[in-house]
Amino acid sequence: MTEPTFPTKIIRNMPAGRRPPTGRDAKASPVPPEKVRRLNLNESPHPPSPVAVKAMQDAAANVNRYPDPSWHNLASAIADRVGVPVEHVILGNGSDELIVNAGRISLEPGDEMVVPVPSFPGYYKCGAVNGAEMVMVQIRDDASCDVDGIIAAITDKTRLVICATPNNPTGGMLPTAEIEKLVAAVPESAFLLLDEAYYEFAIHAGGDDHLATMQKHKGPWAIFRTFSKAYGLAGIRVGYCIAGSDEVADAFQNVRSVFNVNVVAQAGALAAMSDMDHVKMILDATKTERDRISAGLTELGCAPFPSVGNFIAAKCDRPAADIVADLQGHGILISSLMGAGYENYIRITIGDADDTDALLAALKEVL
Ligand SMILES: *Cc1c(COP(=O)(O)O)cnc(C)c1O
Repeated sequence: MTEPTFPTKIIRNMPAGRRPPTGRDAKASPVPPEKVRRLNLNESPHPPSPVAVKAMQDAAANVNRYPDPSWHNLASAIADRVGVPVEHVILGNGSDELIVNAGRISLEPGDEMVVPVPSFPGYYKCGAVNGAEMVMVQIRDDASCDVDGIIAAITDKTRLVICATPNNPTGGMLPTAEIEKLVAAVPESAFLLLDEAYYEFAIHAGGDDHLATMQKHKGPWAIFRTFSKAYGLAGIRVGYCIAGSDEVADAFQNVRSVFNVNVVAQAGALAAMSDMDHVKMILDATKTERDRISAGLTELGCAPFPSVGNFIAAKCDRPAADIVADLQGHGILISSLMGAGYENYIRITIGDADDTDALLAALKEVL
């Protein structure tokens, strides 16, 4: 039999019919779609800052024009705030786009990539579309990435190492000492990627800022952050990369599409940065509700992970798939952890106070 010529072997070998694991369409929901409580995608339950909404409305009048392909205003604002050269800030259509591109710039087919598990599904897609051999490293019991395990998994074929802090779906964060270990041990032949999608939540919880530590790394590195979580802007798709060098920045520039962040998104993210009171409101409210959900889960006999993110995972006495389905019957969407050994683990995105009330009441019936 002759080998097919389309699609490429790498794409052919991906799991068939793979779809983004969103589960956002509630099937057979007893409540109308607009009443469904979406506690499954780590979205903010709070609308974005009114300043950002106004900026996006104004920008909408100009969408006959292409967006600024160099994202000048937004990239400059991020560079100033973070304290890096503007050339080292690369914007993406969500950090999701940047994650796949991290693989495109670092992996040849057959190369090894070290990733935590369970962690963000985008990493596995990055490995699959780039034809990498994925080496999975189980997270630690404290819900954070296992840095020692990641280091032990590195070989001379490793070209990409991904670490997330706080880790999604478990919520554990890493202190400076752990990032220092990673920086010291990852060889220059591998690209070190630190995913800080929940950066603002980590800082709010008293966590460390890892930029200065990453800047000590000798090899290629990048940090990814996003406007999707703490800024409440998941719908406009803006993530950013802090590239460790010109070489890393140039590589990301070479593979991206030219107009990857649209006019409305650039305006909204920039305006959102001027309203940090709004971000603080979201972070404070998230902590309040996270504590309530954590206590509620414990009371119901579950074992929640110590999360600092806008989500919380917990081990329960029943299969997570059943809990997810039963809660759907109450009009509440949550998600479950993927991977062997995690069959009884659920993940709940932190909603508003009303969501917590409804969730805890429903969980009482379901568990
Ligand atoms: C949500 C999330 C992202 C992706 O965010 P975008 O919306 O694509 O910017 C990346 N990494 C982790 C760990 C996440 O949880």
